[in-house]
Amino acid sequence: MQELQDRRARVADPGAAADAPAVLRRVFGFDAFRGPQQAIVEHVTAGGDALVLMPTGGGKSLCYQVPALLRDGTGLVVSPLIALMQDQVEALRQLGVRAAYLNSTLDAEQARQVERDLLDGQLDLLYVAPERLLTPRFLSLLERSRIALFAIDEAHCVSQWGHDFRPEYRELTVLHERWPDVPRIALTATADPPTRREIAERLALEDAQCFLSSFDRPNIRYSVAHKDNPRRQLVDFLAGHAGESGIVYCLSRRKVEETAEFLAGRGIAALPYHAGLPAQVRADNQRRFLREDGIVMCATIAFGMGIDKPDVRFVAHMDLPKSIEGYYQETGRAGRDGEPAEAWMGYGLGDVVLLRQMIEQGEAGEERKALERRKLDQLLGFCESAMCRRQALLAAFGEAHPGACGNCDNCLQPVRTWDATEAARKALSCVYRTGQRFGAAHLIDVLRGADTEKVRQFRHHELSTYGIGTELDANAWRSVFRQLVVAGVLEVDAEGHGSLRLGAAARPVLRGEQPVHLREEPARTRVARGGERRSESTLHVEAGDRPLFDALRGWRAQLAREQNVPAYVIFHDRTLRDIAQLRPASLGELARVGGIGGSKLGRYGESVLEVIREAG
Ligand code: ADP
Ligand code: ZN
Repeated sequence: MQELQDRRARVADPGAAADAPAVLRRVFGFDAFRGPQQAIVEHVTAGGDALVLMPTGGGKSLCYQVPALLRDGTGLVVSPLIALMQDQVEALRQLGVRAAYLNSTLDAEQARQVERDLLDGQLDLLYVAPERLLTPRFLSLLERSRIALFAIDEAHCVSQWGHDFRPEYRELTVLHERWPDVPRIALTATADPPTRREIAERLALEDAQCFLSSFDRPNIRYSVAHKDNPRRQLVDFLAGHAGESGIVYCLSRRKVEETAEFLAGRGIAALPYHAGLPAQVRADNQRRFLREDGIVMCATIAFGMGIDKPDVRFVAHMDLPKSIEGYYQETGRAGRDGEPAEAWMGYGLGDVVLLRQMIEQGEAGEERKALERRKLDQLLGFCESAMCRRQALLAAFGEAHPGACGNCDNCLQPVRTWDATEAARKALSCVYRTGQRFGAAHLIDVLRGADTEKVRQFRHHELSTYGIGTELDANAWRSVFRQLVVAGVLEVDAEGHGSLRLGAAARPVLRGEQPVHLREEPARTRVARGGERRSESTLHVEAGDRPLFDALRGWRAQLAREQNVPAYVIFHDRTLRDIAQLRPASLGELARVGGIGGSKLGRYGESVLEVIREAG
């Protein structure tokens, strides 16, 4: 027993952390830690517990990988997604790190081999799914192994309010109980403060040091447009991202499939992904997205967590997400590599009606519904806001952004507002006179004096509001109605038919006591300009370096196929770009390029130099 205690209670060599920069250079090929990485690495290497809150793409993996290499024993990584363990482990092996995973995809013999390697101290890192970790058999295996640390990835899975709730995460406190001296590091990109508190509490990490990074993702350009012709808008948007990988989020499974089909019909490499597809189709499509260049994934939010493909260049929302937190997480899947990326969202009154309906008709209790309503309202406010999107987004998470960002639609093309007091009064009296039971489409027909069957059926051409709104076109009226709903001047009916009635804030507007200023819908030219914006949202490669860059990409694609791994596991685009720029003539020069550590230099160095020589 005493011996066991000694093995568990190994305290790392206090000087070990001093080697961190050397490991970073030698293994990963990076010159410097980013943001709080170094502080985290030092803290965990010295045996401390840590809660790491860092946005997607911030570089969380290094925060446990480097300490695992510096400390004695194996770093155990709890990860909820078995589909991705393989790629993570493959990326580490390319770096010369002794990494493995244990999950249900291994057969019995493969699993036994991994277990033997663990017991023999032959592993630097071992990835394991939570349900596997918690089995008595595995826990007893750990008793007989040397453990460097426990890393709990995607720690927000412990929160039952989130979309990614995994009940087994709740039981991970057993690690702390049985191995009190092994440091634990929990990591998440959750930006929502209540969820963060829940994580600390549920994982018994109240005493852990918390490392909170800024949640800004400066390389993502945000824009929100009203939907008038969603498919055409999407096609215009995609035109600016030809050949790039991206995700198009839709609310329903049906819409996912229709959108994928529509895009495929236009020659775009689009695939569907939602929870209703057969497991094999889902796995194949995800695999193609991760491994091939330029796939557009049309998906519900079932697709996303743990998609650690670094070069997703855009995320488009065809429907509104449920909350601003959801929007942040979903758009955050773009640009993990830090290169320019784009988040585009279209929304319209139809979204508001549908989401309200989903809340009201859902099974949730009244308290939960009230919360969901508030979250939706907050998101709608964000959509209609005329201020910098980044400021508004970060403010929702309690973070202040110094000044306007210059990289969102509202900054790039400041929003104009117009005095809509008169228009709002006309809209409200039309709602009132028609009995507060019609949707925006019909109300607009009445205002514009249209001769439709419905108008005649209800004798609405006899109303005083018939035809009083010809000064605005139907689009402009839709914008007015939508903004009045967001502002609470109008309300959508709870039954979910989309009919509008006067809201709490209607009275002063009707009486003319309250002026109304609405945002002017910008012309759609911005979206249509796709082609021209291209250079801003992709990796910048000098024209002169392009032939070599393309040659290197071709070389990489072939290697990736041969090894059956995603291309980025071999080298990131940025590394290839830097090689093309530098044109190193020797291994020594090549080693100076970011992203080329010792292992990759040995594996691919000569071959890269050859590509450079051949390209002339
Ligand atoms: P996260 O898990 O936080 O989303 P990752 O750990 O996947 O982020 O890292 C995002 C990207 O940043 C990866 O491509 C990674 O190689 C790169 N990266 C992380 N840390 C550094 C660093 N110190 N220097 C250079 N690149 C880094
Ligand atoms: Zn901005």
